[in-house]
Amino acid sequence: MDYIVGIDIGTTSTKALLYDLNGKIYAKANIGYHLYQDLPDMAEEDPDDIFNATLSAIQEVVTKAKRTDGKVIAISWSAQQHSLIALDENYKPLTRTITWADNRAEKYAREYKENGKGMFVYQHTGLPIHPMGPFYKLLWLQAEHPEICEKTAYWVGIKEYIIWRYTNVLAEETSMAAATGLLNMRSVDWDDEVLKLVNVKRSQLPDLVETTHAIVGIRSEYAKVMGIPDDVKVVMGATDGALSTIGVGALETGTLAINIGTSAAVRSFVDKPIVDPKARLYCYPIMNGKYLVGGPINSGGIVFNWAHDAMFTGVQETAKMLKSSSYNLLTEIAKTVPAGSAGLLFHPYLGGERAPLWDANARGSFFGLNRNHTRAHMVRAVLEGIVFNLYMTTLALTEVTGDPKDILVAGGFVQSSLGRQIMADVYEHEITIPDSYESGCLAAMYLAKMSLGLESDLTNIVNYIGKEKKYEPNEENFAAYRALIPIFIRLSRELATEYQSIADFQRHFPTLYK
Ligand code: ADP
Repeated sequence: MDYIVGIDIGTTSTKALLYDLNGKIYAKANIGYHLYQDLPDMAEEDPDDIFNATLSAIQEVVTKAKRTDGKVIAISWSAQQHSLIALDENYKPLTRTITWADNRAEKYAREYKENGKGMFVYQHTGLPIHPMGPFYKLLWLQAEHPEICEKTAYWVGIKEYIIWRYTNVLAEETSMAAATGLLNMRSVDWDDEVLKLVNVKRSQLPDLVETTHAIVGIRSEYAKVMGIPDDVKVVMGATDGALSTIGVGALETGTLAINIGTSAAVRSFVDKPIVDPKARLYCYPIMNGKYLVGGPINSGGIVFNWAHDAMFTGVQETAKMLKSSSYNLLTEIAKTVPAGSAGLLFHPYLGGERAPLWDANARGSFFGLNRNHTRAHMVRAVLEGIVFNLYMTTLALTEVTGDPKDILVAGGFVQSSLGRQIMADVYEHEITIPDSYESGCLAAMYLAKMSLGLESDLTNIVNYIGKEKKYEPNEENFAAYRALIPIFIRLSRELATEYQSIADFQRHFPTLYK
């Protein structure tokens, strides 16, 4: 039997899974690393830490699985999008990896939004106007760190760097290249007009290849450490966004793949490039006439975590006594009040927001508080606010994909019955929870099978996904949500004019962060 490692370089950790060719999982590993946030708006990681995590994770799954009946024939990659590393001519990093969460290019994204150039970049590349994008990070580095840019021979992302460390080949596949904001989404080639804006030459960028492209062979010292043959195929794979959409089986236009984990996202495949007139959605070419359109959302479960920590101190002890999880306890408390939280609205923008607002300065708020509201209303409003914001992004998406056919929802938020019910009721649609464990790694494994010629297209991925569960909306809750959602949306427009002033205040009074 042959084996494939599907590996996902996430923001907080790298996960690796060892599969056989039928998709059976033999071992899993998860290795974390540090996110450097010591300056305001900074979010960097050490590329060496991540390389070591990938090496250890692969070694761990190979050791744990103890397969003696065959060998690992491919390693296939999923990774976080929008990271940027400057390399010198000897491929040594001149920077750490600057992650998607780094907001130091905010000023440059804002300038580009105001002078219209950001729309030009969006229309060419599908990258929304936001500091997460390597295009905006390049503007910032050129303006504020020219000494780094002068020495930079190559600009890469973390996946390209890691694959280079293993193979000595500097290559970038379509989906990750698209997420840089430097790739023309129609020609699927680096965009010379856009490159000029950031003073980057084609020779400074990796060679473009397809997601199923394989590099044969890795450096033998690493092969030895991991316990795999050095003629293993390294399959390029794709972005975590693309692969987690494929990995839940959302392959058709109008089949929405929604994830509500720590952050959230709504995505769908379309068959041609689209541009949203308001630039609320990204659009990236992925493979053979498949484009991923969607919105990444900061305000997912992390906002529920805040409510849990800030408003319910002591809940963990109670949960322990009741032998329950403290998050389940909170959802039980939230269930005691009706849908709509008696007119209490919550805007979940605790960490700025990407889709649908694209405003790094956005901040959260409760609206509509009156003396009858209790903590139960507040926690329910938090859960509802997370879903209203997701729904607002979905409205932008369905303007281009048409009404949703299927809504597939994954992530920690829908592990609770209340989370699932709020989703179904706000969307007024049946929701499907796919039983797809680690969908990014699963789809990476599947791309390796395509690369090996064992699958011809994406269709059969559905055979690797377990049973789905379906949940129906409850009509009794529609009225409250139908009335509240327009207020939620109007309010976000009203508040938008003040986000910058309150965010500036918070930056100038940093003791608030203590
Ligand atoms: P990640 O994106 O890190 O993989 P997960 O998919 O594991 O995240 O989801 C984690 C999130 O799930 C947490 O931020 C938490 O707020 C949320 N969560 C955990 N338990 C519950 C629950 N019972 N109901 C709703 N949300 C929950």
